[in-house]
Amino acid sequence: MKGKRIGIFGGTFNPIHFGHLRAAEEVRYKCQLEKILFIPAYIPPHKNSSDIASSKARWDMICLALSNNDAFMPLDIEIKKEKISYSIDTLKELRNTYSDSIIFFIMGIDSFMEIKTWKNYIELIENYFLIVMSRPGFELENAKLAVPSKFSSKIFFIRKEEDFNRTLSAPPQIFLIPIKALNISSTEIRNMIKKGESIKYLLPENVEKYIFENRLYQK
Ligand code: ATP
Ligand code: MG
Repeated sequence: MKGKRIGIFGGTFNPIHFGHLRAAEEVRYKCQLEKILFIPAYIPPHKNSSDIASSKARWDMICLALSNNDAFMPLDIEIKKEKISYSIDTLKELRNTYSDSIIFFIMGIDSFMEIKTWKNYIELIENYFLIVMSRPGFELENAKLAVPSKFSSKIFFIRKEEDFNRTLSAPPQIFLIPIKALNISSTEIRNMIKKGESIKYLLPENVEKYIFENRLYQK
């Protein structure tokens, strides 16, 4: 397969943390991705509460977190629409924009285990390369349970970096990438803030500062 490799990394990023950043970095070099686009999901204003920061706040925090890394790029394609987007639609749009690139849709194994609940997930698997990263508390080995058995032969456990290039051919292909995943989640960070605990060193300093200046996630 020829072309630049672009990773698409979606999420709520409520807030973005070192678990996201480190996971993306490991996938970037293991799969030799040129760029990874971080795409926050839109959340309607009426859902905003002490637990869900506004789309703008989550966007601002992503921009701060990625500001010193040229390989990571924030993209506001979903929040700009001001309605809930489905991954399949975002991917189709990006495939048009990046028509001479190879697109990889990146997610953690916890998200992958729920893929059957996604809009047109069969179409998504059949047409896009998927990269599934390990995450503490979830087993990469369980990935095959998440999809119909016809995809079992399309799941590849990538143990060495060379295996990825050798295996890469055409979708459907689901690559399981074991990473040194950090045991950090946004939920945990939000709960720590509510309890008044320190969140230092769990996310970038400028994001931590933004959270406190804007009084996010407090009771
Ligand atoms: P929440 O607790 O609110 O669900 P989260 O930490 O799971 O937050 P999300 O925004 O839900 O973060 O995750 C976006 C994507 O990043 C998902 O595909 C998820 O699997 C992945 N991800 C998040 N944290 C990690 C981590 N520590 N290691 C590996 N992947 C992660
Ligand atoms: Mg999550």
